[in-house]
Amino acid sequence: AENSPRFSRILLKLSGEALSGNKDMGIDASILDQMSLSIAHLVGLGVQVGIVVGGGNLYRGSQLQQDGLVGRVTGDQMGMLATVMNGLALRDALERRNIKTRLMSAISINGVVETYSSRDAIRHLKNGEVCVFVAGTGNPFFTTDTAACLRGIEIEATLILKATKVDGVYDKDPSKHDDAIKYDFLSFDEVLDRKLGVMDLTAICLCRDHSVPLQVFDMNKPGALLSVIMGEPEGTRVTR
Ligand code: UDP
Repeated sequence: AENSPRFSRILLKLSGEALSGNKDMGIDASILDQMSLSIAHLVGLGVQVGIVVGGGNLYRGSQLQQDGLVGRVTGDQMGMLATVMNGLALRDALERRNIKTRLMSAISINGVVETYSSRDAIRHLKNGEVCVFVAGTGNPFFTTDTAACLRGIEIEATLILKATKVDGVYDKDPSKHDDAIKYDFLSFDEVLDRKLGVMDLTAICLCRDHSVPLQVFDMNKPGALLSVIMGEPEGTRVTR
């Protein structure tokens, strides 16, 4: 039907930056509430939603290393733990909107989060529960973008959505260049050849190799998430 969602199971990547809203650091409660409302809408339509959250609003491993605080592996572990904290806040925000939510971590933290397993996740999703995946891939030297593509493939999502601050992928930074051109469609190879900073190479290669389409869109644009789900043109779509 015209009013039914085009995608039945999706993986949404929310960066740490997206959670911090207009604050310099930390987590913005009103942003979390807005996001929860948009996600509630999807759940109401019967869409199964998996979410991977970043941690860049709190810690990034490479930055902690550069600052001389810790080595890279420790820094990445701190970064992964930061995503757990973001996930805890997102889980509570979703539950305040009466959305049944599971928080699943790649790193076991007994008593705080469930440990991730793809089989459990798929079972929860089929039950109509939102799954929030945290601690990235569980390994240093990876990113939560890669985790998003990995989890998306594992749960057999038919679309991976990357929420950004701009409404898609441009040939150059639109905040610095007035003549930047937005792409409506791209192939994964074009993203790689033109070195477009959509996601890191590992993430892009995973999506390409497993033929999972990727949609880059502006989460702060009202109705954008919904129109992506309905299959309407929105942001930039990257396919094989
Ligand atoms: N991280 C990691 N392995 C992963 C995912 C993340 O070590 O699989 C660490 C890494 O240090 C990273 C930090 O967690 O900088 C936060 O993740 P990311 O930078 O991807 O968050 P975002 O940019 O989406 O906010």
